[in-house]
Amino acid sequence: MSVARFWRETLRRYNLGASKCPDCETVFFPPRPVCPRCAVHRKSIAKMEPCQLSGHGKVYSYTIVHEAADGFEMQVPYVLAMVQMSEGPMLTGQIVDVEPSQVKEGLEVKASFRKLREEGEGGVIHYGYKFAPASQAPKAP
Ligand SMILES: [Zn+2]
Repeated sequence: MSVARFWRETLRRYNLGASKCPDCETVFFPPRPVCPRCAVHRKSIAKMEPCQLSGHGKVYSYTIVHEAADGFEMQVPYVLAMVQMSEGPMLTGQIVDVEPSQVKEGLEVKASFRKLREEGEGGVIHYGYKFAPASQAPKAP
């Protein structure tokens, strides 16, 4: 991924910026320029409203990852979950600050920003959102 694209996406992820259709009120993340639900009527073109996700959601489904992707070797096992945000969109992210065995469907979580991985020695540090149980305060990255 190019540096420019990385930063564009990072800014969007930091903000949890989404878009909302003024007609059917569906919220999309990442934001969409057109509502696919209303696309037949073309009414949503240029009318999508920017909005912010609250970061609150519930675990919809999850999997415990034992074999890490490159750059994540230090973190296995970890929990990767689909989280249904309170506004409706489904986000995929790591669940942190909880034992994998404690994660269950319906667990209330809150997004927080964490270091995702570091490229090389003293290299670029990538940040993004992860989810922690809503019942406890997120720790510093
Ligand atoms: Zn719509």
